[in-house]
Amino acid sequence: MRIIVGAVIIFVGIICAVNFLLPEPEGFPILEYHQVTDELLDPDFEMYNVPPAEFAAQLDYLQSEGYTTITLQDFMRVVHGKGELPEKPIVLTFDDGYKDNYCTMLPILEAHKMTAVIYVITNELGKENYLKLDELKDLQRRGIEIGSHTADHLPLTSYDEDFQRRQIRESKIFLEWSGLKTIYSLSYPNGAFNSDIEKILREEEYLTAVTGEAGLNTIETNPYELYRVNIRKPRFGLTEFKFRLWKANFFAKVRNLL
Ligand SMILES: [Zn+2]
Repeated sequence: MRIIVGAVIIFVGIICAVNFLLPEPEGFPILEYHQVTDELLDPDFEMYNVPPAEFAAQLDYLQSEGYTTITLQDFMRVVHGKGELPEKPIVLTFDDGYKDNYCTMLPILEAHKMTAVIYVITNELGKENYLKLDELKDLQRRGIEIGSHTADHLPLTSYDEDFQRRQIRESKIFLEWSGLKTIYSLSYPNGAFNSDIEKILREEEYLTAVTGEAGLNTIETNPYELYRVNIRKPRFGLTEFKFRLWKANFFAKVRNLL
């Protein structure tokens, strides 16, 4: 027991020393959410459900800290020399395309005059608990960016190139042919990506892709390997949310070292 306590103290000490010694990194965070709901769903996924009251408190906090939400299309316009980023940008992303993103999350987001990016699994659209096409169109009308989370949410690195391309291409084409505006961004299912998949994304005219790796993003970051920090159902309220933001910052510091 004593050895474990000692090891934990040394580990925390090293983290604090590294955090204190390294210079503040440049860049903005991208947050990875899933559901915003009070409902108790499948216990395996419960950790991904942020209660609406907690979500509202998180947005209040971001506002009080001077953050401005942008979409990834806004970001890419700046990368291509059109316009400038706000002073403290942040991107809120929502994976899987759950219905509560429209019914519960959107009203809270709009009350804060914020925007977001929602990544949908196209073969789940319209099923119970998932968004419908009409809702996606309305979300786009309200300034929310819609991205692809592929057709079937399978980890792409486990499949051959043909299959990867179909998952990437068909989800984009399906959305666009269903009347949505052009889809430019992808979220890798299970955060699984590699340089071959990035090549397919370029060929299929995606401009950005988000991973599950913690860090911060600048216009120098590979736009197909954008860093994100996962926001789970908090056990310690806003303190835990602040810790997640700190984690993104800390990982960016360490990455700058490498
Ligand atoms: Zn997912």
